[in-house]
Amino acid sequence: MTQDRRVFSFGGGTADGRADMRDLLGGKGANLAEMSLLGLPVPPGFTLTTDICTWYNSHDKTFPDGLEDDVTTALARLSKDLGASFGDSKNPLLVSVRSGSRASMPGMMDTVLNLGLNDATVAALAEKSGDARFAWDSYRRFMQMYGDVVMGVAHDFFEEALDDYKLENAVTQDAELDADDWQEVCGRYRDVIEAEAGQSFPQEPQAQLWGAIRAVFDSWNNQRAITYRRLHNIPDEWGTAVNVQAMVFGNLGMNSATGVSFTRNPSNGAREIYGEFLLNAQGEDVVAGIRTPHYLTRAAREAAGMEDASLEEAMPESFDELVRVFDRLENHFRDMQDVEFTIQQGRLFILQTRNGKRTVQAALKIAVDMVGEGLIEEAEAVSRIDPPALEQLLHPTLDPTASYNVLTKGLPASPGAASGAVCFTADSAEALAAQGEKVVLLRTETSPEDIHGMYAAQAILTARGGMTSHAAVVARGLGRPCVSGAGALQIDLDAGQAQIGAHKIAEGDVITIDGTTGRVMEGAVPTLEAELSGDFAALMAWADGQRLMRVRTNAETPEDAARARRFGAEGIGLCRTEHMFFDPRRVLHVRAMILAETAQARAAALAELEPEQRADFAALFREMAGLPVTIRLLDPPLHEFLPQTDDDLSALESLLGVDAAALRARITALHETNPMLGHRGCRLAITAPEIYEMQLRAIFGALQDIANEAGETPQVEIMFPLVIDVAELEILNRMTRRIAEQYEAAHSFAPAYVTGSMIEVPRAAVLADRLAAQAAFFSFGTNDLTQTGLGLSRDDSGNFLPDYVKNHIFENDPFATLDRDGVGALMELAAGKARATRPDVKLGICGEHGGDPATIEFCQQLGLDYVSCSPFRVPIARLAAAQAAIRRKQGVK
Ligand code: PEP
Ligand code: MG
Repeated sequence: MTQDRRVFSFGGGTADGRADMRDLLGGKGANLAEMSLLGLPVPPGFTLTTDICTWYNSHDKTFPDGLEDDVTTALARLSKDLGASFGDSKNPLLVSVRSGSRASMPGMMDTVLNLGLNDATVAALAEKSGDARFAWDSYRRFMQMYGDVVMGVAHDFFEEALDDYKLENAVTQDAELDADDWQEVCGRYRDVIEAEAGQSFPQEPQAQLWGAIRAVFDSWNNQRAITYRRLHNIPDEWGTAVNVQAMVFGNLGMNSATGVSFTRNPSNGAREIYGEFLLNAQGEDVVAGIRTPHYLTRAAREAAGMEDASLEEAMPESFDELVRVFDRLENHFRDMQDVEFTIQQGRLFILQTRNGKRTVQAALKIAVDMVGEGLIEEAEAVSRIDPPALEQLLHPTLDPTASYNVLTKGLPASPGAASGAVCFTADSAEALAAQGEKVVLLRTETSPEDIHGMYAAQAILTARGGMTSHAAVVARGLGRPCVSGAGALQIDLDAGQAQIGAHKIAEGDVITIDGTTGRVMEGAVPTLEAELSGDFAALMAWADGQRLMRVRTNAETPEDAARARRFGAEGIGLCRTEHMFFDPRRVLHVRAMILAETAQARAAALAELEPEQRADFAALFREMAGLPVTIRLLDPPLHEFLPQTDDDLSALESLLGVDAAALRARITALHETNPMLGHRGCRLAITAPEIYEMQLRAIFGALQDIANEAGETPQVEIMFPLVIDVAELEILNRMTRRIAEQYEAAHSFAPAYVTGSMIEVPRAAVLADRLAAQAAFFSFGTNDLTQTGLGLSRDDSGNFLPDYVKNHIFENDPFATLDRDGVGALMELAAGKARATRPDVKLGICGEHGGDPATIEFCQQLGLDYVSCSPFRVPIARLAAAQAAIRRKQGVK
């Protein structure tokens, strides 16, 4: 245990903890303490720390010595403050027991409410509240929750017992059941528990409490919590805290209510109260999506065309108080809050506050607005946006010119439009998606067990549940478009089909969901790319102001280059010239070039390719006027280019004028056992210089073409791949100079360029000081540097790397997030050595890692000049680079 204190009390304007103790108290516990210190109306209670959870899980599910005494002391204090105690026949203490980890994991772990009720205290509750029906209803809720969560009796058994009772008594609605009925139901629940759990329901509140505490700690390791942690990169070691808090009741009549609210709109970020409530209900009813909740504000109710009174109309005083609390919380936490509250007979209580989950659109708007409101600084706004989440902004929206048939409309729970084949279960969605299909998950209501299917799906549609149901919250977190509460949707799981009005939907039928408007459409509706202006542009401008590294893109087509420029790329960090040859007509000439046995045959093939290369380079240069453009000379792993089919072969036969047998013999001769380590990269130019010579002429010609158009030329950087020795660079530099001189002599144009090399094998990293004598710049090719540094094939390791991550040998896939300890150390060595020879050497990264925020952070630490990544990741890299720079300025490692 790292802390002496294990139980932290809060309530009545005091607290042992504070907001900044979330690692130890969990988010919920820390904020309950903080709210109590602020004097907000928080029901009193205490928090068992996350350290206890870690201890419990690593000590065979036992508790550290003395914990029981600590809990007893905290309970005694609570009892004293409230004048109520466990098991008291007049004023029984009733508590909720809830989880709460460092990072919010909505609905993934367990909760028990109304704890402390038993056959004796239920009568006291009836007496005290003057409402016997309420007391027995609470007791049966407690038995069901406790039976399910602590004793492992599935809640279906309870539902069945209740249904049977209603059937026998010719009742259809719960509301028709009175106190005697609920008492009778409690008896049946007792029998259900005995039959299913093999033991009786505990009457002793202390035993109930410890059972619930254990269950909450155990729920840290239930399957859905594990899956959620994996998807959100939450470490298993963190553990959950347990919060034991005095119960307040939102189900004590029509002057009681319970609700959840965001202090701003979590979907679009608008500064408006955005929440739901239910009269005469307990908290779980709102989030579980069982009853459809009502709006908090009149404006929201009217906009939705709903009849039922909003909280603002039904309980104006409580609403006003709530609004004041929201302002207080926002000003204090300086962020949008997600608040749970209960009104017990006209008295407001705040049960929880946390920073609200939001879509990236909302995150941007809120961050930008809060700078305008003077709540936060620009740098903080930049730091608040999760870089990978920006990708959602680049997601398509419906093409406004498309015509489509709207099947129904639900709640716009998570924005973006997507189409896919309908699946009715999370498992089938996962299975179909694994086959490469785009799927849309349709559920009556999603439960936390559906998380893997939601992850696999392009979009999610539910028939029930509000904007704050688990489905909506989780979809927003995952960045999946989601429409919830589409009441017209009826799913018949047994028949494997659904219906929206008269329209039947079978598994596999394609539909489109627009999570921005809530519409559900037949078939696949065309979509458009997003517009990157407004709050996005404002925030990115602030990010660019903070950034120390440049962001370039990996691109070889004018389209990609133009898109990357729109996304803010400041040049090209890698143009893979071999990718310019994949076009079927060109690939024929590349094959001819590779298979040519004579210099003459090779020259003929190259002559075909040169004008095309020149035109391609010119198109790229036009997009990148004035900016650096790194052209990497050919690096074709031969196996990617050799002919595969008979058609490919016969096309080559006629082009080269050789017979099939000779061609096959040549292909066999070129066959490599290990092409990734074979005749690749600059090795090819050492054997056959004509290929690079052609490319150099094409580059210089394209530069002249741009100059002739009176366009601004880019800063061309010619890059040699897979270099392992300075002698290679000497040869290649000589060749480049020679071709440039020849070009100038022939065309009276002196091309401006510099040369440099990739560092993508360990030997190049180790000898970077020598290479630097011949290179103006280096670009870390971390794809190959990972492959050769770890000795793991980039093409084959997908089969076993997941097991390495699962077994915690690697925390991440080293081909996605840089292996700092190994590959990172090679980079650090190379950077130091290169700078020793050439202090102004330009350093960049162009492997896939260049768009990964954690790697970008490391590149900032190395002081690289730029990162380069695929066009769609350019905004992510800009933001990640800004955040890395801010952390550096703040001295955070
Ligand atoms: C690299 O190896 O990191 C690199 C950028 O080159 P390629 O992926 O083309 O091998
Ligand atoms: Mg490479």
